[in-house]
Amino acid sequence: ARQFTRPLNDLANQWNTLLSAIAGAERVFEVLDEETEARDEGAAVKLQHVEGAVKFSGVSFSYEGGADTLQDISFEAKPGEMIALVGPTGAGKTTLIGLLSRFYDPSRGSITLDGRELSTITRESLRSQMAFVLQDSFLFKGTIRDNIRYGRLDATDEEVEEAAKLANAHAFIMRLQDGYDRMLSVDGSGISQGQKQLLAIARAILANPSMLVLDEATSSIDTVTEIKIQEGLQALMRGRTSFVIAHRLGTIRAADRILVLEGGRLLQQGSHEELLQQGGLYSELVRGSKEAAEA
Ligand code: ADP
Repeated sequence: ARQFTRPLNDLANQWNTLLSAIAGAERVFEVLDEETEARDEGAAVKLQHVEGAVKFSGVSFSYEGGADTLQDISFEAKPGEMIALVGPTGAGKTTLIGLLSRFYDPSRGSITLDGRELSTITRESLRSQMAFVLQDSFLFKGTIRDNIRYGRLDATDEEVEEAAKLANAHAFIMRLQDGYDRMLSVDGSGISQGQKQLLAIARAILANPSMLVLDEATSSIDTVTEIKIQEGLQALMRGRTSFVIAHRLGTIRAADRILVLEGGRLLQQGSHEELLQQGGLYSELVRGSKEAAEA
């Protein structure tokens, strides 16, 4: 596991807004290695103010000279929009996020942020504008307060609590023995999976990024916590361009645009209603998920 935990640890140290779980990020950026990571060009500049307009134009990508993993992907995200990525395992959803966050650069085509080529923006400043909320959130040995503060290291205690309130995490924290001073072990034992997610949301709110990447949990979380998480996520996503690897139909329906990927191609894009009218893979996925929910 060293080959993926090392670069991920580096990344986590490097970006105080990388909110993700080592465990989750391990899954997302499985074979990430420093050598393969996109390099900054000499002329790369630091981002200043970011609106969050993202545009992919004819983007193709292959890992290490293999066949194209993504082929001719074009779409736009306006500032503040929520984009849902759906499609079967291996479709290329994670790879698309890897390009967006400049883990990799496209083999062909262009990606722009606010009209500027991504390859001309330093990785560090790009990622300081992004927060990741992944399935398993990264918690370290320390207090709950410090775990939230990881989103922005100079935040005051008041700002930490304000973020926790917006994230819907404050109430459960106050019910814990020691509250915000409660010590967490590395794996966050003693709090539930859902509570870990609420902490990750609080951390992301505190980081205040222009762009978000969410990998929606597939594991079952009790209904009450799930509702809190959904509300917390809504607070988090407001006004930020969000890319959600979505598994729940409710989330997908709420998206401004759904990108349906399969085998590295963008088969369909549009709103829920538009895609249902088109028929095809999306309507099959929806039918499949309804049957699964009813089963
Ligand atoms: P999804 O997130 O939709 O499940 P991925 O983007 O993870 O899809 O994977 C798309 C394809 O790229 C898959 O065939 C996968 O095996 C391949 N792939 C993913 N990461 C790498 C990598 N680092 N090197 C080579 N192939 C990879």
